[in-house]
Amino acid sequence: MIYPRVEINLSLIRENTRYIVDLCGRSGIEVMGITKGVCAMPSVVRAMVDGGVKKLGDSRIKNIKNMKCSGLNMPIYLIRIPMPSEAEEVVRWAEGSFNSEPEVIRLLSEKARAMDKIHKVILMVDVGDLREGVMPEDVIQIVGRILEMPGVEFEGLGTNVGCYGGVLPSYENTKILVDLAGDIEKRYGIKVKTISGGNTATLKLVEEGRIAPGVTQLRVGEGILLGTDATNCRNVPGTSQATMLLKTEIIEVKVKPSKPIGELGRDAFGNIPVFEDRGPMKRAIAALGKQDCRIEGLIPVDDNIEILGASSDHLLLNVTQAKRDIKVGSIVEFRMTYGAMLSLMTSPYVDKVPV
Ligand SMILES: *Cc1c(COP(=O)(O)O)cnc(C)c1O
Repeated sequence: MIYPRVEINLSLIRENTRYIVDLCGRSGIEVMGITKGVCAMPSVVRAMVDGGVKKLGDSRIKNIKNMKCSGLNMPIYLIRIPMPSEAEEVVRWAEGSFNSEPEVIRLLSEKARAMDKIHKVILMVDVGDLREGVMPEDVIQIVGRILEMPGVEFEGLGTNVGCYGGVLPSYENTKILVDLAGDIEKRYGIKVKTISGGNTATLKLVEEGRIAPGVTQLRVGEGILLGTDATNCRNVPGTSQATMLLKTEIIEVKVKPSKPIGELGRDAFGNIPVFEDRGPMKRAIAALGKQDCRIEGLIPVDDNIEILGASSDHLLLNVTQAKRDIKVGSIVEFRMTYGAMLSLMTSPYVDKVPV
């Protein structure tokens, strides 16, 4: 066995997908499966597809290219607004993309024309989280400009909350999109096919029947992959949180003081560390570090194990009270937040093992 490793339970991911697809389906909402959290790892993507998603989305064009090259034959959207420099690749590999800059949409249109394609565009609207999107008052005019571009099809509107500003999804902020879509239909005599109303955090509105009627799509990553909803600080009811397990190997176990000895400078990351003297403790070092993982996002499966901190390559644990006797060579397990999963899946030093 190779450590550190993340074991990924594919059938639980399939079941989580199935549950969320059914939940949304009952409100007339389709689920776009978001693959960026696992770097579009093929077996995980397959589990999402088996769970019933009909569309996929990723923030990285490289991931989309890999999925398409592996023969995945379904619509995949670029969910991060494109860089101008990647416009050609976006049109080549993605069915559509989420956008907020007319000049980039114009580039996509030109590239699509040159390839004899029509690229689908969902216009992002900023309803308050202050990440990507045009301000609501500018939507009608910008849609008019998109409708004049021959290489793109205006598919609909989208919005994102929670991720940056931490704004919670609400009836009111999803209703802004639905109302704008109505205005567009009246003004331009077209049908707005897609209203992409949010991400995992918006599932709560669906459960409570508080999402604005008319929303047709949610883009869900975290809820499927981990069964959690960080924005609302909860587990998604009906899903499993046992999808991912990190296993690390212990390389040192010793009883040492809890407070460093000698004059303190800065740690390897430039911070001035502070320590409380809690007397001697049984300390273990796991072979995993900040180069691999956002350590603050790890949750020991044995809740008697305490994470003390980490350097680039060493994870320091207080195992004084551990339920099992921890020795050199022992394997210590962790659950993880979305941030920790993202870093682990991106580290080439961590094995990813479907089980
Ligand atoms: C990451 C992302 C999502 C998925 O968010 P989750 O919280 O993982 O469901 C949806 N939309 C956009 C634009 C994203 O960047």
